Amino acid sequence: MSAMFILVINCGSSSAKYQLFDIKKCHSLEKGLIERIGRAGHCKNHYDAIGLIISRLTDKKAGVIRSKSEIGGIGHRVVHGGEEFKTSTLITGKVIASIEKYSELAPLHNPPSLSGIKACLAVLKGVPQAAVFDTSFHQTMPEKAFLYGLPYKYYEKYGIRKYGFHGTSHRFVAQAAAGMLNKPLGRLKLITCHLGNGCSMTAVDKGKSIDTSMGFTPLEGLLMGTRSGDIDPAVVFYLMEKENLSPARISDILNKESGLLGISGVSNDMRDLLKRAMGRGPGSGRAKLSLDIFIYRIEKYIGAYQAAMRGLDAVIFTAGIGEHNPWLVKRIKKDLNDVVNKKVKFLVVPTNEELLIARDTYEIIKKG
Ligand code: ADP
Repeated sequence: MSAMFILVINCGSSSAKYQLFDIKKCHSLEKGLIERIGRAGHCKNHYDAIGLIISRLTDKKAGVIRSKSEIGGIGHRVVHGGEEFKTSTLITGKVIASIEKYSELAPLHNPPSLSGIKACLAVLKGVPQAAVFDTSFHQTMPEKAFLYGLPYKYYEKYGIRKYGFHGTSHRFVAQAAAGMLNKPLGRLKLITCHLGNGCSMTAVDKGKSIDTSMGFTPLEGLLMGTRSGDIDPAVVFYLMEKENLSPARISDILNKESGLLGISGVSNDMRDLLKRAMGRGPGSGRAKLSLDIFIYRIEKYIGAYQAAMRGLDAVIFTAGIGEHNPWLVKRIKKDLNDVVNKKVKFLVVPTNEELLIARDTYEIIKKG
């Protein structure tokens, strides 16, 4: 059986993460990160970054493959696939045009992914490429869950609706949890909690996302590192008027200065907050308060999603905060002791979005 090497690429505006898999063995051979793309003294653009990745992978001494011709497929993480992409897909000219179209909905995320895709087309000519979207797992949500209470014409005109994000992570941990619970995914009601810098929760009913906490953008839902999560939209106009803020400034406040950081005034990082909350020094009260709000929101969504699914088998915790803070899982379990059925399991499942992207890419190549 010959090996199949799949390269996974995740491009941000000034960074490119990569990981090479021997996919038949589900084994990661190498991973790395190119940073500061576009800054003086670093890679000029994503094209140069992809070139650097290939030269690292094929380096005579430290490389893990001999030549780029050994790469059998490339999987790209793409944030927004709109309503068009309900699953991962082989990249064609038409797909590239659609990803470009959805840049309007994800102006910070889709353009760098496109640059990465175009760079791979040039540097790795003829190698099949797949796009794996953060939004596609949530395309199974029913209208009653994804529509906002706005005039319907704005959904038709601008596609304003809940899309949801972190879909690859929610899908990965739901599948892994079914394995751990030794039950088919099709018979489970799960709530997956992706708690990293960005945080979102999903109600996964029989393997399908039926609701998720992030919305039209990743700003909705849980309290996050620096994002406010759910808020009365009237607060936005009120603050804009009182503080004479531009739309760009209020957007920065909600996305970059709120959440755990905004409440605690200390940090957006769980490790710093825990240290501060456990001490008696200045700021410990607000650090504690930010954690209380963080946990309260998660518990509220568990209640809501249990109701939405008419039942619950397990709550899954993943990503930086979810995977490394057993006290958090214990506390939520204890808080909800009298609310959820005694049989409900609380599990920590490490996420691996890159592996799922590599697997999807392999499946697509096999079919093609
Ligand atoms: P991103 O969303 O950027 O991928 P991560 O999933 O890495 O972020 O999550 C970042 C969060 O996880 C931070 O709040 C960080 O404090 C927390 N975290 C990561 N490792 C640990 C750890 N060992 N103990 C406690 N918190 C951790």
